[in-house]
Amino acid sequence: MDETLATQIKETAEVNALFNAIKHESEAQVGAIMGPLMGENPEFREYGDEIPGVIAPVIERVNAMSHEERRDRLDELAPEKLAELDEEAQEDDQILPDLPHADAADEIRMRVAPNPNGPWHIGHARMAAVVGTYKELYDGSFVCRFDDTDPETKRPDLGAYDAILDAIDYLGFEPDEVLRASDRLETYYEHARTLIDEGGAYTCSCPADEFSALKNAGEPCPHRDKDIEQVHEEFDSMVAGEYGEGEMVLRVKTDIEHKNPALRDFVAFRIIETPHPREEAAEYRCWPMLDFQSGIDDHLTNISHIIRGIDLQDSAKRQQFVYDYFGWEYPEVIHWGHVQVDAYDVPMSTSTIKELIEEGELDGWDDPRAPTIASLKRRGIRGEAIVEAMTGLGMSTSNVDLAMSTVYANNRDLIDEKTDRAFFVRDSGEHDAIEKSVIDGPAAGHPAVHPNHEDRGNREIPVESAVLVESDDLPPVGERLWLKGYGCVRHTEDGFEYTGDDLDVTREEDVDIVHWVPSDENLDVRLRTMGGDVTGYAEPGVSEYDVGDLLQFVRVGFVRIDNHDEGRSVAYYTHP
Ligand SMILES: [Zn+2]
Repeated sequence: MDETLATQIKETAEVNALFNAIKHESEAQVGAIMGPLMGENPEFREYGDEIPGVIAPVIERVNAMSHEERRDRLDELAPEKLAELDEEAQEDDQILPDLPHADAADEIRMRVAPNPNGPWHIGHARMAAVVGTYKELYDGSFVCRFDDTDPETKRPDLGAYDAILDAIDYLGFEPDEVLRASDRLETYYEHARTLIDEGGAYTCSCPADEFSALKNAGEPCPHRDKDIEQVHEEFDSMVAGEYGEGEMVLRVKTDIEHKNPALRDFVAFRIIETPHPREEAAEYRCWPMLDFQSGIDDHLTNISHIIRGIDLQDSAKRQQFVYDYFGWEYPEVIHWGHVQVDAYDVPMSTSTIKELIEEGELDGWDDPRAPTIASLKRRGIRGEAIVEAMTGLGMSTSNVDLAMSTVYANNRDLIDEKTDRAFFVRDSGEHDAIEKSVIDGPAAGHPAVHPNHEDRGNREIPVESAVLVESDDLPPVGERLWLKGYGCVRHTEDGFEYTGDDLDVTREEDVDIVHWVPSDENLDVRLRTMGGDVTGYAEPGVSEYDVGDLLQFVRVGFVRIDNHDEGRSVAYYTHP
């Protein structure tokens, strides 16, 4: 091998070694370099035997460098390779796709537009998670607009406004602007009047079925060509509340022969006699339809990108007619599929959850059996675990399934290391707490506060005379059992006879390791789970934890302490 070739091999090997070491943040190996080196450079192959010796010192030098030094060196030798690495790393970090035409917007402004007819179920978190994440990616703005302009069929719930803002906060986002559409009626009226002036809207008193028959036939109703003065007068009367429900509507003039009948002269305003629950809006009777109201607001609040369900494609098309009259440019729209969630018996529907609460089947929006944001929060699940799972669903137009196990896995990563361990012996449902006397055992058990962190010390669980274990953990008489943090006992006719604390027996003789609590000094606990309440007994130290603290009940799961009242503590089950 001549000098030139050797230099060439060394340089190529160095680039490969740097690339791999930076990519994996680990040391480069001669073996791992050889494959690509020969594959990409067939001219090296005849020297295959000599090459490891030639490149070994190069690899050694690379491995002696810090991460930063490796980056600098790669930038020097092959800047295009470093750029490739940075690009890959960025793609890995960013789960959501780029927004379409993001460069064309002065600022990325997106909105969540909840109907406050109830607090949020889990599915609602998706929009906030995605809009909040895009806000962070683009340094943009997050608008929360309550689309509360239907006081009757989607009647707003006064408590839901704050509950929704709390949910957004819990997910880790803060809206830059909060609007209530029911504060903005005068703005919608003003735009309706401009539309009337443009010849873009008319008042119509056709009974609904008659209009529908004409519309389906592609025929205009007799009101379509009224003069503008009369339309103004009648619209003013609508605003003044002079018509009853169904007597008069304001329609947007589109194309009465449009191939999609849903787009033909749709209703923009109608009369609703039921007063709005918000005092500020209680006097209004003439209400905009959602497509009109949200279309106007999206423009007036400079929304650059809208995310909307794939089933709502007609909304953009209807609103486009209004935008054309005003000469406005429509925001970018991204349609996505619906999200479904597994693991719950209660359907993810605001109206169903509301009914079950009213019927007393659920204790409230934060009942652990309810698929709601409030319940996840009360169970001790972190908002960021939900955001991560939601953004991980991507932006596909197909329906997607949110697996609660993903939320739980994310949350476990966040809490496991910090969360102390405790024992809880179940005594309801399939589990019975069985009392056994302890014979000749120590006066206390000392299980670790956290198995991975010796420095956090050990708990002290006093054992006066007897312990409780779960019935299915009890071995046959004559066999042994390891009481975690206490020692080994043999199950006899008299109870548990202590046999020592040499943990090797559990490995050599297949002795089960179980959790336990003292029978005389323990804490009554009601554990609220998605499958109903479980009662049992916790070790006494659990009473020292504050409301809101998390614990792992060993072999049961993570829990959040909810209260310590009335001689019985309550905990909410977080996840396994
Ligand atoms: Zn008509």
